[in-house]
Amino acid sequence: MSISLQTDVRMVKGVGPQRAELLAKRGIFTLEDLLNYLPFRYEDRIHFSKIKDVQPNGTYTLRARVMSGQAVRGMYGRDAIYHLLVQDDSGSLPCKFFHGGYLEGRLKPGQQLILHGKVEIDKLRPARREMINPQIEVLTGEEVDSVEMGRIVPIYEAVGTFGTRPIRRAIYATLQNLDSNIPDVLPPALLQQLHYPSRRDALIHTHFPDAGESLEALNLFRSPAQQRLIFEEFFLYQLSLALGRRAVRKENALAFRVREDKVREALKRILPFKPTNAQKRVLAEIATDLEKPVPMNRLLQGDVGSGKTIVALQAAVIAIENACQAALMAPTEILAVQHFLSARRILAPGGYTVELLISGLKPSEKTAARERIRSGEAQLVIGTHALIEEDVEFNRLGFVAIDEQHRFGVLQRKRLMDKAARHGNAPHVLVLTATPIPRTLSLTLYGDLEVSVLDELPPGRTPIETRTTTEQHLPGVWEFLRREVAAGHQGYVVYPVIEESKLELKAAIEEYERLSKAVFPKLKLGLLHGRLSSQEKEDVMQKFRHNEIQILVATTVVEVGVDVPNATVMIIEHAERFGLAQLHQLRGRIGRGAQPSHCILVAPGRMSEDARARLETMVRTTDGFEIAETDLQLRGPGEFFGTRQSGQLGFHVANPLRDRELLELARKEAFALAEQPAQKEALQRVLRLLPGEWQRRYHLARVG
Ligand code: ADP
Ligand code: MG
Repeated sequence: MSISLQTDVRMVKGVGPQRAELLAKRGIFTLEDLLNYLPFRYEDRIHFSKIKDVQPNGTYTLRARVMSGQAVRGMYGRDAIYHLLVQDDSGSLPCKFFHGGYLEGRLKPGQQLILHGKVEIDKLRPARREMINPQIEVLTGEEVDSVEMGRIVPIYEAVGTFGTRPIRRAIYATLQNLDSNIPDVLPPALLQQLHYPSRRDALIHTHFPDAGESLEALNLFRSPAQQRLIFEEFFLYQLSLALGRRAVRKENALAFRVREDKVREALKRILPFKPTNAQKRVLAEIATDLEKPVPMNRLLQGDVGSGKTIVALQAAVIAIENACQAALMAPTEILAVQHFLSARRILAPGGYTVELLISGLKPSEKTAARERIRSGEAQLVIGTHALIEEDVEFNRLGFVAIDEQHRFGVLQRKRLMDKAARHGNAPHVLVLTATPIPRTLSLTLYGDLEVSVLDELPPGRTPIETRTTTEQHLPGVWEFLRREVAAGHQGYVVYPVIEESKLELKAAIEEYERLSKAVFPKLKLGLLHGRLSSQEKEDVMQKFRHNEIQILVATTVVEVGVDVPNATVMIIEHAERFGLAQLHQLRGRIGRGAQPSHCILVAPGRMSEDARARLETMVRTTDGFEIAETDLQLRGPGEFFGTRQSGQLGFHVANPLRDRELLELARKEAFALAEQPAQKEALQRVLRLLPGEWQRRYHLARVG
C-alpha cells in the first residue's frame, strides 16, 4: 500500500498509541511530520573502529560486547557514575557514564553494543584510555538487520522513551511505502538552477544516505539532500516574511500624535528614573514610526537588564494618549504578572488602567477582564498567550509589544495583530528580545522588521562577579549565600529542569527539601517550577519580591525576564548542562540593582570541553554579544540557534548560523518570487503545494 504524507503516524508499524502520544507532544502527527524529524548525526557502521586503535581526544564508533557494568554512587548520595567495560576482538575499553545511575541493571554481560563517543585519558591513570559518556545502542532484543548495520546509520534524538533505534525503524518503514511522487514545493526552475534533488529523494537520502556518501559532509549537514531540505525551510520561511511584508505595506495604521506637549509630559511623568541615552534614542526611533499611518514593525534588541520594559511602556502610553489600547504579551505567566505589577505601579498614578489576562485567572475574573478589554476600559492589557485566544476582543488596539520575542512564533505575533486589524487599522508592533544576534543576521531572520538596539546599561550597576566551583565545595557556597542573606539580600538556586520532566523535577524538589531542612533551617526558602499552578507560582513570586522568601530554588522558569533587584546571588547547579544563552539569561536575573552581585556556577570537575569552554566564557565576560560570538564558535546543540531557537522559527534542519549562506540565497529567491509580477504563477504553484505543516504554521495560503 502506498501512503501519503498526510497519513496519521499511527499507521506506521511500530508506532502504537503510546508512542503516538509521545510524538504528538513534539508536534508529530502525520507521516510528513515524522519524516521531518531528521537525524542530528550519522554513524559509519560499515567500518567500525577497533578498540586497539582508539586514541585520546578522538571520537569513535565501536561495536563491542559488554563484559561488566556497575553504578557507583557519588558524594551526597546522588549522580552515580556508571562504569562499563566492553571488549571487541582487538581489546577491551572502560567507559564512564556520568549521571549514569539509570543504566544500573540494564546492560548484561555478553550483550552486543554500538558505542559512539570520545576517548580520553584517565586522569588518575594516564596510561589508561576510557570512553566518556558514549551514546550506546543495544543490539539484542529486536532483530538486527540492514536498517542499523552495514550502512551509514542515522542517529535521532530520542522522543521520551521512544529511542533512536525504534524511531529509525519507523522512519525506514515509512520511506519504504512512500508514494513515488510526493509534491515538491520548490519551483522546478529553481531546483534545476541549484542542482538540488527532488523532495522525495532528499528525504530518503537525508534519513538513509548511500554508503558512498561522505560521513563528514553528512555530519556537517552538507550533503546535497540535506542542503536542499535546509534551503527549502529557509525559502518557505522567507516567503512568509516576504508575503507578510507585502500585506503589511498595504495596511493602514493610525498615525499617532507624539510631539504634542500633553504626550511629552505624560511620557516624562511616568518615568521612575532618568532614562539612559540609549533608551531616549530608541524611544525617538519608535516615536517616528508611530507618527506614520503605516504599521510600525520594529525589533528592540537589548541585553538582559538593559531596560527594555520601560521603553515598551512609554510606547504604550503614546498609544493610550491617542485614545487607543495597548497590549503587552509575555511568554510566561511569571513574567506577565511581573510586568503587570510594575506597569500598574508606574502607570496607575497617571490615571491609566492596566489589566492582566492569563489563563490562571478564575473564570469570573477572566470574564470581567475580557469585558473591560472589549469596552475599552482597560487601556493597557498585559498577558500571556491568553491574549490571542478567540474570545478576547479589543475595543481599539493601536499598539502591541511582544516581550522575549524568541519565545513566540511568527503566527502568534500575527494573531495579536489581527485582533486590531479587525477594526480597519493594523496596530503598531514592537518586539523585544535579549537574544544578541549579529545585526546582519537578525535582519535576515526577522527580515520584515526594523531594528533598534539598547546598547547601554542603566547607570550604577556593579559588574557581576562570576566564578565556577565543584560540588565538593557546595558547603562553602551555601555559607556564602547565608552571609549575603544576612546582609539583607536574596538569592536564586537554579536546577537544570529543562523539560520539566518528572525525574528532573524530583531532583529539584529533593534539593529544595534538603536545603530547607538541613542547610538553611532558619531561612525562608521557596520553590518555583513549571508544574505549579498559576496561583502557586504567583504566591511564591510575590513572597520573593517582598523578601519574605530569601532563597528561591527554581527551575529554568526564572530564565527570562524576572526582575527582583534585591537578589544578588545566582547559584546554578549542574551548570555544565546549560547552554550559553541560558546561562547568560539566568545570570541576567541578578546585577539589577546597585549592590554587587555574584554568580556561582557549580559543575563537576570533569566535563566535556564544550561545557568547560561555556563556563569559562561566562567567567570571562558578561557581554551578551561576546557570549553570542563564542556560542557561534562552539555551536553545540540547544544553543542560541540550536533546537529551541530554530524550533521556534519552525526549522527542522536549518540552522541560521551554520547555514547562513543558504539563508541569504533563500531570502533572495523567496523575495524575488513574492515581489516580481512575472513570478505570479510560480508563486501560486508554491502556495498550492505548500507542505501541510507550513500551511498550518504560517497561514501562507491565506496571506498569498
Ligand atoms: P530587560 O531589558 O532585561 O527587560 P528590564 O526592563 O527588566 O530589563 O530592566 C532591568 C532593571 O533596570 C529594572 O529593574 C528596571 O526598573 C531598571 N531600569 C531600567 N531602566 C533604567 C534606568 N534608565 N535607570 C535605572 N534603572 C533602570
Ligand atoms: Mg525583560
